[in-house]
Amino acid sequence: MLIAAGLLFLYWFLKPSKVAIAEKSTNEKMLLILLGAPGAGKGTVAERAEHELDFVVLSTGNLIRDNIAKDTDLGKNFKKYTSKGELVPDELICSLVKEWLLTQVKAGKKIILDGFPRTAVQAKYLHDLTKNELKDYTVRFIELQVSDDEVVRRISNRLTCSNKACQAVYRPEDFENLAQAVCKRCGARLIKREDDCEEVVRERLRVHKETNAPLIEFYRSVGYSLEGISGDGKQPEEVFAAFKSIIAR
Ligand code: AMP
Repeated sequence: MLIAAGLLFLYWFLKPSKVAIAEKSTNEKMLLILLGAPGAGKGTVAERAEHELDFVVLSTGNLIRDNIAKDTDLGKNFKKYTSKGELVPDELICSLVKEWLLTQVKAGKKIILDGFPRTAVQAKYLHDLTKNELKDYTVRFIELQVSDDEVVRRISNRLTCSNKACQAVYRPEDFENLAQAVCKRCGARLIKREDDCEEVVRERLRVHKETNAPLIEFYRSVGYSLEGISGDGKQPEEVFAAFKSIIAR
């Protein structure tokens, strides 16, 4: 009897609790790299993950636009590239990302990168950085896959908050009265981004295809696999649900 009670206690003491497992999966130190063409929905997924799942997000596009808006020396330099749909030079963006990333790592945050890496050079840089400085992080790659036509349709229609500290993105159908629409988060005016016209979008898509293939190739060569979410014809809620089920695995 005593032995049975002892064994029962031992089982109860040692069995992994469901609560502990749930906490582990939500608190796991994770670096998620969101890949996908401009307009594939990376920003929307990242924003929801930030608000609902406690991730911190770095959007390099937002960081660059912020520098341009503040007219910093870096911003002046960036504008020469972004206005034509070209990528900014690797060495400039890499050092900015490193500084931000290490601050978040020190604080033990769950991290999403949106828009970085964009080239094989950036991918190699990030790979070295994660090997050396993010040893206790799980690194995962999630690609949002959307066709070119859908990208052009989405981007040519989308509206962005004019407040550079916010930069929330909306679809026209998010508002009942589009003429009076303002940002739902901060109340600022909504604008069409300068590089969101069809001509620049097509160039951004071309650049994306050219640079994305070697990037994926690099990650495959160092043993990472890519997890894909098809976004064509899907509502943002459906894409986010797919994202959540991937990161819970
Ligand atoms: P996005 O908002 O991510 O589409 O980025 C807008 C623009 O910022 C891009 O067209 C590029 O000119 C620039 N940009 C953003 N991220 C990067 C990056 N990782 N490397 C180089 N240029 C970038």
